[in-house]
Amino acid sequence: MQERSGTEVVIVGGGFAGVGCGKGLADDDRVRVTLVDQNGYHQFQPLLYQVATAELAGRDMTFDHTDVFNGQDRVTLVRAEAVAADLDQRSVTLADGTTLSGDYLVLAAGAQPNFFHTPGAREYAFPLYSLTDARRVRERVLQLVADASAKPELIDEGALTFVIVGGGATGVEIAGALSELIHDVLPHRYPQLAVAGARIILVDVGRALLAPFSDESHEYAAKQLHRRGVDVRLGNAVTEVARDHVTLRDGTTIPTHLVIWGGGEMAAEIAGNAGVGQGRGGRIDVRPDLSVPGHPRVFAIGDVANIPFGDQGALPQLGSVAQQSGAWAARNILGDLDGNGRESFHYRDKGIMAMIGRKAAVAEIGPHRHELHGRLAFAAWLGVHAELLANAGAELKAFVAWAEEFYFRPHHRSAELLDPAQVELPRIHWQDGK
Ligand SMILES: Cc1cc2nc3c(=O)[nH]c(=O)nc-3n(C[C@H](O)[C@H](O)[C@H](O)COP(=O)(O)OP(=O)(O)OC[C@H]3O[C@@H](n4cnc5c(N)ncnc54)[C@H](O)[C@@H]3O)c2cc1C
Repeated sequence: MQERSGTEVVIVGGGFAGVGCGKGLADDDRVRVTLVDQNGYHQFQPLLYQVATAELAGRDMTFDHTDVFNGQDRVTLVRAEAVAADLDQRSVTLADGTTLSGDYLVLAAGAQPNFFHTPGAREYAFPLYSLTDARRVRERVLQLVADASAKPELIDEGALTFVIVGGGATGVEIAGALSELIHDVLPHRYPQLAVAGARIILVDVGRALLAPFSDESHEYAAKQLHRRGVDVRLGNAVTEVARDHVTLRDGTTIPTHLVIWGGGEMAAEIAGNAGVGQGRGGRIDVRPDLSVPGHPRVFAIGDVANIPFGDQGALPQLGSVAQQSGAWAARNILGDLDGNGRESFHYRDKGIMAMIGRKAAVAEIGPHRHELHGRLAFAAWLGVHAELLANAGAELKAFVAWAEEFYFRPHHRSAELLDPAQVELPRIHWQDGK
């Protein structure tokens, strides 16, 4: 590494939180930042289901760190996986054995799917947490539709049965978008597709969709999914995932070749390799100033942390929490350097929202949860996500084009994104070699 001077800050993870922290430090000439990320780009997770359902290309929701930090020469980008962290030394070990250490260490490695030890889920379910995941879902849908179109008898083997695990925002959003893809878009490409045989089943162990939202929003989401033909099964659970079926807790077996896992998340692996106690969801419990207890110059921010939130426990795993906590950690580091001390993190609550489909969204705005449904909620969703994108230093062009297309030409998709020839997944093995 090049010779450096000043306060060294090593950040692990270049998502909302890591980028927020890096940008908060990049302009201060007392600081040098090393940002380590396994991908080298920021993946904008709120747009993952749009990639999974062929509404957006992957390139439209990933932002290269070299562009995000363009011209900021106090930031060094390292594309590598950090496999362990030593909080006493404020260092991380990379997959190739290199060690990076700093005056400050910031853990911002995000989350990973939590399969809750469900047999077969890790092997056969399709999570939706990364660009790679989203592409795999899209490719599997295209494979299944192409196969079912060529051989309608495969529908009995579950070729058009899609099971979604989890009725939180991820599950509800992907269910709505998948239904619009299957019923409204793909029949134009496959006129012979027996789309009436398609089933989208959403399973959740709880009693309501979008649990953190109000009762009105629960009902609105259920009604909108019902209208889109989604079979919502609440108070049930997927207890096993196999190559060609799932089993539910009530004993039902459903033939399927695509189980989308939106059933929960836990802290990224590095949280378990940092020699620190892990709280709920495997996340690192942090102090109000976002530092790790006993390690004042180590911060944990975003989805990898449990950030205290008054008597409500911890803040939820949201882009805005991650971005703001990143900026706040930067501010506290600069506060140390200025000798001004630190402040407890104050979250500016934008609210919670989910998009169920075209013209159907729910939004509960601000700390008082002013409730919106339908087009106004869609507009609120657009506004909040445009701001998140802009704060992350990302281009808005593709996002604006997508929003326009989604609203005015909902049945249109780029031919490239619907082309089964682009599918790289191994072919599906049907019974009897069909
Ligand atoms: C499908 C989906 C939809 C969502 N929709 C919304 C939404 O609409 N609105 C909203 O506010 N929030 C949404 N969220 C939540 C939001 O995306 C997260 O809260 C946010 O991404 C957390 O930011 P982060 O920086 O903590 O983690 P991430 O954004 O996940 O970034 C973590 C980064 O760390 C890197 N990394 C991980 N481990 C390592 C390692 N060991 N070494 C090097 N690099 C590593 C990863 O590659 C990644 O770049 C959604 C999440 C999902 C999964």
